[in-house]
Amino acid sequence: MPHSGHVTVTKIYEFAYAHRLPSYQGKCAQLHGHTGRLEVEVCGGEAGGTPYPGIVVDFHDLKRIMAAIVAELDHAFLNDVLNDPRYADWAGKHLPAVRDEEGRSVYAPTSENMVRWVAHRLHAAYPGLQVVRIRWWESSTSYAEWKAC
Ligand SMILES: [Zn+2]
Repeated sequence: MPHSGHVTVTKIYEFAYAHRLPSYQGKCAQLHGHTGRLEVEVCGGEAGGTPYPGIVVDFHDLKRIMAAIVAELDHAFLNDVLNDPRYADWAGKHLPAVRDEEGRSVYAPTSENMVRWVAHRLHAAYPGLQVVRIRWWESSTSYAEWKAC
């Protein structure tokens, strides 16, 4: 094949969220909101069925896969999402803890931590999905990226 390489497909989601960074020295310590943008790039995998020939992952499958995850994020207070007891085992192994203003150990919903959370949720829900890259846009000029490497 003269032009080798990999084909990937990407889906993009937009949603609103609120968060604050506990004990952060600066404006982000205050409760505030963002219009977030999430990009999920996949290169294959069984996402609930065998893809049509020539298709990497059916966009409809990816949409269904992501619906539950985006629903957890949309119009949510991300401090509560990230510190939900359901994710405590995972967070304890993969995220740095910070102290909140009351001295409790918590996980801060930075873009970097949230993109890790999305990668974890995707893998846990659909281990066969081959995720290449996830971008969490906090604004039109800033994103954190998770890459499979
Ligand atoms: Zn923010």
